[in-house]
This record gives sequence, C-alpha cells and structure tokens, in this order.
Amino acid sequence: MSNTYSVCASCESINRVDTDRALAKVPTCGKCGKDLPMHSLVSEVSAAGLKKLLAKADRPVIVDFWASWCGPCRSYAPQFEAASKSLRDAVFVKVDTEKNQALASELGIRGIPTTIVFKNGKEYRRESGVIPEAAIPSLVR
Ligand SMILES: [Zn+2]
Repeated sequence: MSNTYSVCASCESINRVDTDRALAKVPTCGKCGKDLPMHSLVSEVSAAGLKKLLAKADRPVIVDFWASWCGPCRSYAPQFEAASKSLRDAVFVKVDTEKNQALASELGIRGIPTTIVFKNGKEYRRESGVIPEAAIPSLVR
C-alpha cells in the first residue's frame, strides 16, 4: 500500500489518499466531501495549495507547470500521469500557470511545460520541456 497527497480545490485541506483507491475512483475530501482534483495520481493545485503541500509533504513533490493553450503541455500530461503511477514515493501535482501567474513569475518560469522537483520544501531540480515518462523518476534522485 502506498499513499499520496491531494489538496482539496474547495476547502484547501490536505488529504492523504491511498494510491490504489485513487486509481480506482476519484477520491473525495475528508473534510468537505467534494471530489479531489485528481487525474490518475496527479493533483491540480493552486499557488496556495502548493505552498501548503510543500510545507507538509514528507517526500519529493514533482510539479508540472502548464497551461491549457500549450500544445507540448498536452502531450506531456499523459507521460506525467503515467510516471505518477510508477513512482509512488513522490507526490505529483500540476499548476496552471495562467491561473497562478504570480507564482510562475515568483519561481521564474519562462517556458512551459516546466517540471520542478521540490525536496523538503525547496527546489531540488528543474527541467524545461517535455520529459519522457521513463526519464521522470531520475529527476528525484
Ligand atoms: Zn475539501
């Protein structure tokens, strides 16, 4: 059994969710009961949600910074989701840079997709562009 974290889009509670259960059915928030914003084992988070998560997570957090208008981001999403299923000792999240522009500029993100790995709340590694699924696990090492 393994678990991951998701941040509720309604009440911003951090939920610890069982990965096998999350893959079978979209999990709901333990606090308010709404569906958690998860696709596969990837959670959509806001800037505030990401900061909460980074303060709490006891394992690497891998963030895909993307936007809906970005073609390469759309081709990257399935690879990122596939990696979330094989690398279960990390938390996978995505941040929409259109909706969270202040965070994107705070982090100095110039192009998307950009993948940033955080360890102990601090940036550990950053890669831009589409990363093949098989290469994603090496980012946390
Ligand atoms: Zn909630």
